[in-house]
Amino acid sequence: MQSNLVIFKLQNYDDLILLIIIYMKYFYVVCLSGHNILKMSTRDLLSKHETVATFGGLEEKRCRHKTSFCPDRCRHGGTVAVFHVIKYLNYEKTGKYGDQKQEKFKFFVRPSDSVEISGLTPERRSVLESLKGGDHVLLSWNHDYVHTEGCSSPQRPITKLIKISKEDADEM
Ligand SMILES: [Zn+2]
Repeated sequence: MQSNLVIFKLQNYDDLILLIIIYMKYFYVVCLSGHNILKMSTRDLLSKHETVATFGGLEEKRCRHKTSFCPDRCRHGGTVAVFHVIKYLNYEKTGKYGDQKQEKFKFFVRPSDSVEISGLTPERRSVLESLKGGDHVLLSWNHDYVHTEGCSSPQRPITKLIKISKEDADEM
């Protein structure tokens, strides 16, 4: 009688774990698909960064194949644009968990990401494509916390990318 009870409890426990796994998978899928499909979302600004920076080139970031969503749906891999911050022109921390001032800023350059997520408008994309290592730019981005249909995640869309001369950068 007692062992039956234990087995019953264990089965229930397994069911619970199964439910949690299913829920997590659903949650993950919904969150991931949210990156590509336009849905109702709200955006909290946590910090605002306006900098003078130099372009550090493009890096290939690899997915390490550690989750069941790798490599197609995990968003771990891709091309990353790297910038080194020389100075801040403006910095605002508007949320408790907003990023501090950064010395380096990287962002993914994915054709599939919407402008809302990446901030990469066609104009900024063409500026990026024209950059060579060491070029000076005005680079701004926001650190947002985005809520989309029950999922919340940070996003750091760029809000400005303009090529400037070294002389202009020195005078700022
Ligand atoms: Zn991955």
